[in-house]
Amino acid sequence: MTEKKRVCMICGKPSEVSICDPCKARIQGEAMDKKQKTEREVRIGPEAEKEKKKKR
Ligand SMILES: [Zn+2]
Repeated sequence: MTEKKRVCMICGKPSEVSICDPCKARIQGEAMDKKQKTEREVRIGPEAEKEKKKKR
């Protein structure tokens, strides 16, 4: 029987789970950053349109 060494699929460090806690936290943080960025961009869109209309 071959013992499979479990390592993190992100950083390759020995880990009991496929993604170790530090990497999981980092991925979740990046996902949140992306979400916030998208929400901000969406929010900026309509407001920019309003600004254009105000100037007219
Ligand atoms: Zn990791």
